Amino acid sequence: MNGSRVLVLNSGSSSVKYQLLDMADGARLSSGLVERIGEGPVADHTAALKQVAEELTDQGLGLDSPELAAIGHRVVHGGTRFTEPALITDEVVEEIEKLVPLAPLHNPANVTGIKVARALRPDLPQVAVFDTAFHSTMPESAARYAIDTGTADRFGVRRYGFHGTSHAYVSRATAKLLGKDVAELNTIVLHLGNGASASAVRGGVCVDTSMGLTPLEGLVMGTRSGDIDPAAIFHLSRVGGMSTDEIDTLLNKRSGLIGLCGDNDMREIGRRMAEGDEAAQLAFDIYIHRLRKYVGAYTAVLGRLDAIAFTAGVGENSAAVREAALRDLPAFGIEVDAVRNAVRGSAARLISAGSSRVAVAVVPTDEELEIASQTFDLVSD
Ligand code: ADP
Repeated sequence: MNGSRVLVLNSGSSSVKYQLLDMADGARLSSGLVERIGEGPVADHTAALKQVAEELTDQGLGLDSPELAAIGHRVVHGGTRFTEPALITDEVVEEIEKLVPLAPLHNPANVTGIKVARALRPDLPQVAVFDTAFHSTMPESAARYAIDTGTADRFGVRRYGFHGTSHAYVSRATAKLLGKDVAELNTIVLHLGNGASASAVRGGVCVDTSMGLTPLEGLVMGTRSGDIDPAAIFHLSRVGGMSTDEIDTLLNKRSGLIGLCGDNDMREIGRRMAEGDEAAQLAFDIYIHRLRKYVGAYTAVLGRLDAIAFTAGVGENSAAVREAALRDLPAFGIEVDAVRNAVRGSAARLISAGSSRVAVAVVPTDEELEIASQTFDLVSD
């Protein structure tokens, strides 16, 4: 292998995001997004990836460049089959296709992206990096639901977790910020974007995470309910007369912040709260209550907590969420410094008080860099 560049592709159902990184120095050479696949001039994923290839060629960074060492693909669901990044072969593509029932919205687009990219550059090593992989180290006590084991195993009903690339990157970046070896650090990572998840990471190894079989479980999110009594679904079906698909849409698209107050953007919710809007305030309070429960639970899971890291759109930008989530927790050794918390910036930074036993940090996530690093590591071996 000669080159040091990695193209990262994130093929979603209606968009393809790409970044070209040079792993020699971590430089981001190009990035872009092809949207509205299937709606207009971009007929399908083949057309979308051709457009990506053309955009790169126009910048003198074409797919045929000898500098390009590999392509790294984000794949949402790796099931129990993929616990590490995988060099893509025909067999790997088949295995990812077999996981479609577990991620019907995501894996098909991921597979299409892989197939088209392989057709464009059949000779180039390509790697699949899975959103679930970082969580595969969870012990069975955290990964299993307390349901009939035979039924669970037959249908793959267990907790897989998502956002793993982000949790992996942020837990390591937190150790780096603190000047510690990740192996000696117990961390809670709070990835708060439109989708949101928490993870408990002991010495760099994930021991629990809040998303489960699907990304629906856990925290209150932009449009997802997070944890809910599963019997609410039977109730909505039997008493409410709703179909399975309607309840699926309700819980994934019309719940969470948007279901509670009509907005899923934390900036807008903050503005409304400042004007005394009660629905926005209640949505915020429910969001925070759930977050605090997970912080408490994961503190107990870890036994000794060294650091809490906030990341993603809300975690990196909302001082109000960070403050409310960790307010009045000195008994847990957690003290946020108001002045540090209010500082805005794009670099990883500490926001805990000098007297805080637990380090609290804002650590911007970089999933593309993590995918590129894992891809490059695999093809450089
Ligand atoms: P995803 O990748 O899950 O789509 P992001 O990590 O980009 O989401 O987060 C998007 C969310 O971040 C927005 O919906 C909004 O709620 C929140 N957000 C972005 N900027 C700010 C800000 N300055 N203050 C508060 N919240 C913000």
